[in-house]
Amino acid sequence: MNSYLERLFAGRWIAGPEISDALAAALKLNSLRIRAKINYLGEDLSDKVMVNDAVKTYLEVIDEARKRKVEIFIAVKPTQIGSLQGRKALLSNYLRITKAARSAGIMTWLDMESHREVDETLWLYGKEMKRGMVGICIQSYLKRSFEDMKRIVEDGGVVRLVKGAYRENESIAYASRKEISDNYTEMMRYLFKSSEKFMIATHDTDMIRKALALERKYRKKAMFGMLNGVRNKYALELAEKGEDVTIYLPFGKEWIQYAYRRLRESSNLKLILRSLMEKQDIY
Ligand SMILES: Cc1cc2nc3c(=O)[nH]c(=O)nc-3n(C[C@H](O)[C@H](O)[C@H](O)COP(=O)(O)OP(=O)(O)OC[C@H]3O[C@@H](n4cnc5c(N)ncnc54)[C@H](O)[C@@H]3O)c2cc1C
Repeated sequence: MNSYLERLFAGRWIAGPEISDALAAALKLNSLRIRAKINYLGEDLSDKVMVNDAVKTYLEVIDEARKRKVEIFIAVKPTQIGSLQGRKALLSNYLRITKAARSAGIMTWLDMESHREVDETLWLYGKEMKRGMVGICIQSYLKRSFEDMKRIVEDGGVVRLVKGAYRENESIAYASRKEISDNYTEMMRYLFKSSEKFMIATHDTDMIRKALALERKYRKKAMFGMLNGVRNKYALELAEKGEDVTIYLPFGKEWIQYAYRRLRESSNLKLILRSLMEKQDIY
């Protein structure tokens, strides 16, 4: 990462360009009792060579993490591993990754992209769900998500619940912050009631407080997930209190789309500046 902009925006959210950067950051997180969920940056890949490169990179990450005993999860986007080339390529690439990860004791998570990818992502997840060591992201802003989540949980799958990061049309998605949060709360209640393993992925203090209360009510532990560089100190606080915390840790050179989504979420200028100025380093 050379340019000033890259250092300013990407540097705080992204571990660095290389596998070694991601693993070094993951090791430091592990020393703080936090697991890293490593994502190789890249999406919407129609070029077969780039897709193969992404798959190969994940296999290398898995191999290196196993050798160096770094505790990680892997997070993969379907449009990065072949969904634009058709189901055959997508499934074969996904299975290569999940097989290698499973044998290294590493869980593979599917990220959820825009609404256009939801059916394909659910289909893909369904192919591996029963074998275990795989999870899927579900977004509370989509009106369909509650039903999708129920089906996954009933079939024994593992859900990572987020609010959603893409621009979606009001005909299919809740638009107001209140509606998205209300749906998140209801979905979270369902997970505590009906699922044994799930991740509450948010930086929202109110939501995390509610989740901690639900942990006490149901005598169940959730996994908590946050994105690197957003509220690292809060993640550390939770880990120090004995919560199971994972930090989503991207690495690679294709940082623009990822950084754009993070900037949009910092809903006003004050937040963006605060997020950029505040020291987030915990590792
Ligand atoms: C582990 C993890 C995995 C994710 N995976 C996916 C995925 O696969 N698909 C998907 O669509 N989305 C994903 N997301 C993103 C998610 O959908 C939201 O867009 C994002 O988490 C912001 O929503 P929030 O729940 O943190 O709450 P918000 O209400 O957006 O934020 C709550 C508070 O957190 C702080 N905050 C949040 N974001 C920022 C920021 N960028 N900079 C500074 N402060 C901030 C602010 O204080 C804000 O008031 C993921 C998020 C996490 C944590």
